[in-house]
Amino acid sequence: MATPMTADQWLAALRAEGVTDIVEMPGWRTHNRNGRGAWGDVHATMVHHTAGEGSGLADYCYRGNADLPGPVCHDFLARSGRLYLVGNGRTNHAGKVARNAYDVVLNERSVHPAPGPDELDGNAVSYGLEVENSGAEGRAWPAKQYDVAVRVQAARCRFHGWSADSIWAHKEATRRKPLDPRIDMNAFRRAVAERLKHPPSWNPGQTTPPLEENDVPLTDAEMNKIADLAAAKTWATAWKSPTDPEGPTRSAATFVRWADSRHQRVMTQLAALTAAVEALTKLVGEDVDTDQVVAAVQAAIRDAVIKVDVDINGTPAA
Ligand SMILES: [Zn+2]
Repeated sequence: MATPMTADQWLAALRAEGVTDIVEMPGWRTHNRNGRGAWGDVHATMVHHTAGEGSGLADYCYRGNADLPGPVCHDFLARSGRLYLVGNGRTNHAGKVARNAYDVVLNERSVHPAPGPDELDGNAVSYGLEVENSGAEGRAWPAKQYDVAVRVQAARCRFHGWSADSIWAHKEATRRKPLDPRIDMNAFRRAVAERLKHPPSWNPGQTTPPLEENDVPLTDAEMNKIADLAAAKTWATAWKSPTDPEGPTRSAATFVRWADSRHQRVMTQLAALTAAVEALTKLVGEDVDTDQVVAAVQAAIRDAVIKVDVDINGTPAA
């Protein structure tokens, strides 16, 4: 349920939706059948084919004929994908429609039953897009034309806050037009629904929003690779020695290896010193000469250094 959009609103909505090849037919902004019947509120937007092809179709849509005065639609979409703005207001595109068909679009239901008898004034409640196509079996809509048709109907739905289920085909609205148009309308509505999930500037095949890429989890292999690179970078960090600020810079790994070897030397010297003190303590008060003292201390240091060497180097390296 909605107030029909103005001409300016319609143009802006089309351009926002990426419809750029637009021809404004002279007088289209006030070209309508408003004096011949109701117009609005609007509840739906209809898809038609022209059941013929040729260069005169835009003019035909504007003027109509003696039996069906124009405008006979709001917009005419040529096979090239060019969109002609034909009318604004009530137009002669739908005629009478079935009540059950109208109820489907009014309530935005997705299942379209076979239309019942014509009862309602479809021109009062629905926009209408005419798409140039002969209607012959197997006569496809070119990809560009189809894409523009999807954009046109998405623009109307987006403006009014409708879902794609506000779109109906003439063949879904009346028994009089069983092939109008031949396209799969459910697929068409799905294409419009997909558009409506994205901003109007979206193009099919384009991923939005790109933020979702951040949510992709890393595999274990990727995590291990990152961890290995981080570790390698950490150990390669260049440092100056805190006790030798004027000396060369060395990697963190070199410092660790140097500290490990220095630690072993210190432990060996400590063991030797401890053994020497213990040997001297045992000799206190004994009647021994200097040579005996030196021999006893050297023997104690030798045993201790061998022992500390076994303790350190016999321990499996981590
Ligand atoms: Zn039709």
